[in-house]
Amino acid sequence: MDHAPTYYAATAKNRVDYPSLETDIEADVVIIGGGFTGVATAVELAERGLDVVLCEANKIGWGATGRNGGQITGSLSGEKAMAREFRRTIGDKAADYVWNIRWRGHDIIRERVKKYNIDCDLVFGHLQTALTQAQLAELNATYAQGCTKGMADDLELVPKEKIGDYLETDIYQGGLLNRRNMHVHALDLCFGQAQVVRKLGGRIFENSEVTHIEHGERPLVRTKTGSVRAQKILLAGNAYHLLERKKLNGKLFPASLANMATEPLSQSDADAINPHRLAVYDSRFVLDYYRLTADYRLMFGGGTNYSGVDTPDVARQLIPALERTFPRLKGIKAEFCWSGLDGITLNRIPQVGRINDNVFYVQGYSGHGIALSHILGEITAQCMAGDGSEFEIFENVNHWHLPLNRKLGSLLIAIGMLYYKIKDKLEKYP
Ligand SMILES: Cc1cc2nc3c(=O)[nH]c(=O)nc-3n(C[C@H](O)[C@H](O)[C@H](O)COP(=O)(O)OP(=O)(O)OC[C@H]3O[C@@H](n4cnc5c(N)ncnc54)[C@H](O)[C@@H]3O)c2cc1C
Repeated sequence: MDHAPTYYAATAKNRVDYPSLETDIEADVVIIGGGFTGVATAVELAERGLDVVLCEANKIGWGATGRNGGQITGSLSGEKAMAREFRRTIGDKAADYVWNIRWRGHDIIRERVKKYNIDCDLVFGHLQTALTQAQLAELNATYAQGCTKGMADDLELVPKEKIGDYLETDIYQGGLLNRRNMHVHALDLCFGQAQVVRKLGGRIFENSEVTHIEHGERPLVRTKTGSVRAQKILLAGNAYHLLERKKLNGKLFPASLANMATEPLSQSDADAINPHRLAVYDSRFVLDYYRLTADYRLMFGGGTNYSGVDTPDVARQLIPALERTFPRLKGIKAEFCWSGLDGITLNRIPQVGRINDNVFYVQGYSGHGIALSHILGEITAQCMAGDGSEFEIFENVNHWHLPLNRKLGSLLIAIGMLYYKIKDKLEKYP
């Protein structure tokens, strides 16, 4: 299946088409899924000299990777749970580990883009905004914590009266500027890394859905027209794959996230609404997020459908929030509208583990997967190359398991999330 009709698919510069798997081949590692998890891990493995094959059911970046908001932030939605769970393996070092890991994906992406000269519109600068005084207090606390961790130069609290220097809107009570966070053309970042895999000798196959895994000392994956026998397998299909149900059922639930890009703004409108080209999100549980693309479109996302069903009319859902934020843009047209699935975990910690000794899985970023997928790509490759110490920190996390099928599980999560949506609605917004 071709890419969804996204801004990214329409404007990507690094697209390469790959063949489908038509024969029986061998490799050190076979990766199932060509999103950020699969492709970033493939880069890491190929850099370590392993012979890697990647099978993607559709096109590289077809899933959440080619549909997201492109915001690379230090947000970890399961951060408190992570600090608690990681203690199981690394004791008192857990809190520092969680703090440091939130920036590790930034380093990996920045250095990879530079090293391999990946053209992907990488821009620094992000503003987290507060709609209420309570949210502002949380941003103040984040700022104070960042300063004690040596990030004072990267952070700046923006009071309500200064928001106008950054955004042409009066809906916020203030914000926290973060110069380390970035935004990116997500599909070009993924395509660019796929090209790196190929240059380093890895083999990529598109339109090659893995239908079956045969376990054993040297496991095998089968597609309709070929197979790959390998030492190790990585399942990187996130919310889109249904393999290994016996072990993985009831762990991960798909949520549908909506996103759109407007027609291009004039340079003067772009300069007026967001002169510093910041990526922005607010501090609600179900938040709005937006940024300007390289060609001056406003990419605007929001709303999460935890029932896992795609949003039927994305523009109708998002345009009112966009116009409320930027009255100047009243009447603007949405040129691209789409939605995509991301895997939600109950404790908001990514799920990382092994089905058995040689079949690994990494999934479930709960809406914050760009940095995390790159971090876990590095950690998984380290493990496959012989050092499992960091992989085990994640692997030892206790994950809830709902003995329900996906539909019922998603329904239960949707009901749980309703609480947060109502809580958001009841807060007093201007
Ligand atoms: C609308 C939206 C906005 C988002 N915004 C942000 C954001 O701004 N910042 C952020 O950090 N995160 C964001 N995310 C989350 C982020 O995009 C994801 O967490 C991340 O891209 C997940 O990458 P992945 O490779 O694990 O999964 P995916 O990108 O979903 O890739 C999985 C791939 O596996 C393939 N596959 C499935 N089954 C098989 C099979 N049997 N055989 C072969 N291939 C298979 C699929 O075709 C797919 O291409 C957003 C997500 C969405 C949907």
